[in-house]
Amino acid sequence: MGIPEKGIFPVTTAIRVTEIEVILSILRLSDTGHPDRLRTCAHEPCSRWMFKRFEHQSFCGRKCQQNAYQSTPKFKEHRRRWERDYYWNQYAKLK
Ligand SMILES: [Zn+2]
Repeated sequence: MGIPEKGIFPVTTAIRVTEIEVILSILRLSDTGHPDRLRTCAHEPCSRWMFKRFEHQSFCGRKCQQNAYQSTPKFKEHRRRWERDYYWNQYAKLK
């Protein structure tokens, strides 16, 4: 009773911060000078906040990059063509 134990703080003093506020404060503290490198993942179902390691980086990771690429019409067309060629190659072998 009375004085709380060392290292234990009352719950009411806990500060709730969002993920982005944490990242922004880290950026301010480290003074990297690259606030433009902070962005969300370009793969919309993910949209996770991330810090770009390269100027051209748009995704938080390889998985999102692949997922995003595989949903493009260009990839779907490419795969359709590949499947058709594969089918005909298999067919030609049977003859
Ligand atoms: Zn992502």
